[in-house]
Amino acid sequence: MSKEEDKEDEDWSNYASAGYGSAYDPWADLVPLEEEEEEVDDYDLELDEFMISSPPPSDDGLDNLVRLGACNYCIARLSGKLFTWDDAEQIGASLRDASINRGANKDENVEYCPFCEDLFVDIETIANQVVEQLSKFEFKKLQLGAHFAKDQVVSEDDLRTQFGATGSQALKSAFNDALSNQLSKKLDGAELVKEQPEVMLLIDTLTLEPAIELRSLYLYGRYCKLERGIPQTRWPCRACKGRDGGCESCEGTGQQYSTSVQDQIGEPLRAAFDARDTAFHGMGREDIDVRCLGRGRPFVVEMKGPKRRYADLVEMTELVNSTSGGRVEISELRPSRRSEVARIKGTDAEKSYTIRFKIEGECDPTKVEETIASLEGVTLEQQTPQRVAHRRADKVRHRKVVSITNISTEGNEAQMNVRVESGTYVKELVHSDEGRTIPSVAGLLELPCEVIWLDVNDVHAD
Ligand SMILES: [Zn+2]
Ligand SMILES: [Zn+2]
Repeated sequence: MSKEEDKEDEDWSNYASAGYGSAYDPWADLVPLEEEEEEVDDYDLELDEFMISSPPPSDDGLDNLVRLGACNYCIARLSGKLFTWDDAEQIGASLRDASINRGANKDENVEYCPFCEDLFVDIETIANQVVEQLSKFEFKKLQLGAHFAKDQVVSEDDLRTQFGATGSQALKSAFNDALSNQLSKKLDGAELVKEQPEVMLLIDTLTLEPAIELRSLYLYGRYCKLERGIPQTRWPCRACKGRDGGCESCEGTGQQYSTSVQDQIGEPLRAAFDARDTAFHGMGREDIDVRCLGRGRPFVVEMKGPKRRYADLVEMTELVNSTSGGRVEISELRPSRRSEVARIKGTDAEKSYTIRFKIEGECDPTKVEETIASLEGVTLEQQTPQRVAHRRADKVRHRKVVSITNISTEGNEAQMNVRVESGTYVKELVHSDEGRTIPSVAGLLELPCEVIWLDVNDVHAD
């Protein structure tokens, strides 16, 4: 160890033993340095002066709000005194007058209310604009939302905590309440709600632009499809995919088929409700060449962006049935909601069909009828049919034949009513799909069978 190092050690041991009371404090020179480094902000200093006094509702606290340049609404909001949004302006003004009489004056450099940036001053103008825009739409339930810039929310929160009375309402919910108060007086027959609105109104407090969202309208009903060759939903043209106004093969419609159950029902309703578009949710679907009879298939039709909402549903039913000209008929129309779409989609309803088919080859009618009857109660093993293999996973499904009734034969044609579990491929029950469905009528007869027509007689739901 050199002499130099030895000396250093000695010095450090001195520091370590030096107490606060000792004459020699090794840190003493650091303390004033820290204070010099702290930046002095004029505004912060001013706020510190305000901090000396107590918060509202004390006179000092109220005087501070006036000096800071709070608007009358924010003075009332932060005053800790009782007020409503009807008298807030007036209460704020009289509190301000009292402060001025005590000698408090607004800081002349303040241009706008530091709490709300003069949002409350504009509130009636905002309300009038909104009411004007909403007047184009029919609704009874309105939900209000406001979007504030994050930095404004943060800075108002700081200021309010510092200068507002304890428990003062935050900017966002205060703005919502104040605007709701205005709107509830100006909107005729509509109420402001917190959930399940028909119309959502969102105000951007920077641009003051109201964004209006018309929530979907849902109607439940049952449909019968009385004509073959109509798909359940719109089906874009295979050639052009419905793009660019269609092509030659779809004659410019963009659709593979000229109409659909969706449009037969949805289009007249869309026009009546002045909606932008429709969506169609059926409890399962029948093939294009299959009719749907009996009580019909449950569905929910969704009106997107409806400007009208209230209509006599008996009239709406008649409207659909008369414009469809016997192709599609609806019944049991009633109001529905979004959650029912999931129920419709998720219900595994048994279905009853009438099916007529041709048997290729010589066969004794009694044997045919006995063979068909023997299928009642069996569980089918159905490998995904070739006709749907391109859009369904290839696997084996098990489905039960619940009942078979009304079996009849006529020459080499046979007909039956069959009730099956949801998801049964019923044509395959007849023709076997080259042995992919076991057992089947064709398989048991060891003769090819061809389906002539098929109807859905009932969807056993509700
Ligand atoms: Zn204000
Ligand atoms: Zn096309």
